[in-house]
Amino acid sequence: MINIKIIAKKAIGHACEKKLIFNGNNSDFLAVFVFHEVSDNPSQFILDHCLSSSISTFRTQIEWISENFDIIHPCEILSGKSMGRNQAVITFDDGFAGVFENALPILRDQRVPSIVFLNMQPALERFPLLPAKIAYLSKYSTYFNDFLATKRISKPAFLYASPQLIFEFEDKFGSTDNELILKYQGAFVDMDTLKRWDDSSLVIYGNHLFQHWNVRALSELDLSEQFIMNRAALSQLDNACDFFAFTYGQKGICWNNRDVDFLLSLGAKAVFSSNGRTNSLASSRTLIDRIGLSEQDNTRSLLWFRLRQAVRASYGVVG
Ligand SMILES: [Zn+2]
Repeated sequence: MINIKIIAKKAIGHACEKKLIFNGNNSDFLAVFVFHEVSDNPSQFILDHCLSSSISTFRTQIEWISENFDIIHPCEILSGKSMGRNQAVITFDDGFAGVFENALPILRDQRVPSIVFLNMQPALERFPLLPAKIAYLSKYSTYFNDFLATKRISKPAFLYASPQLIFEFEDKFGSTDNELILKYQGAFVDMDTLKRWDDSSLVIYGNHLFQHWNVRALSELDLSEQFIMNRAALSQLDNACDFFAFTYGQKGICWNNRDVDFLLSLGAKAVFSSNGRTNSLASSRTLIDRIGLSEQDNTRSLLWFRLRQAVRASYGVVG
């Protein structure tokens, strides 16, 4: 079936290209891109949530970014200096194995720097990532869905699940088989792999909480514990830095301005969100928005369309 939406996006993207997007703006901007998984064999969880790029799509995406932006090292974000061109930063969230197996080698060959925001509990303990666990239970467990209904929890449940809620469910129904969830989730990075990339000048590691809870579902005490535990785990790595990326990332449902101030007070040097906007080079460097890319953005025209949306959103235009 022909997908009219994709054809329209490609046509708009093709028509915009560089000229309209770059020359139509008076000032340069910083575009921060976020990827989750890069793999030709993504897990069912990754497929269910459209979180991956294939290896060839990732190559196209990085080529397109390199052609049209100065890709800067994430540490340079704080300096805020403009080199006279639009700038880009490459980021990854969570720590899926394909990022280390497939994406980082491609970036190393092209001398492209990046930051990986890690949840260290799944990396250290062979423990499922929370959204994979909740998505698995939502998909396969009637007990879980009935339990959520009695608690009046909205969907998607991973946005509303608190540690107390999961504890109560497991206390009542027993814990779920982690191996089954891990199979559904797909391979996650381990400490050996993190250490292997730890002497690279092109890769730094940031904080994404110890486990992938939604910040808005945590008490302030739980949030500080999650941030501090993850920082402690990251401190075993030379390339760890104090940048923080919100889990899920959307303002309102996932974080608010108070959360930003709180995380900065805990020691975060910059906080990253995922609302799909570009950042003005003149604006604050402590709260930085990101544009998610996945297999859906697999041609240059679609990438131009995505950038057009991001630039328009940064000026408050939706759609
Ligand atoms: Zn995440």
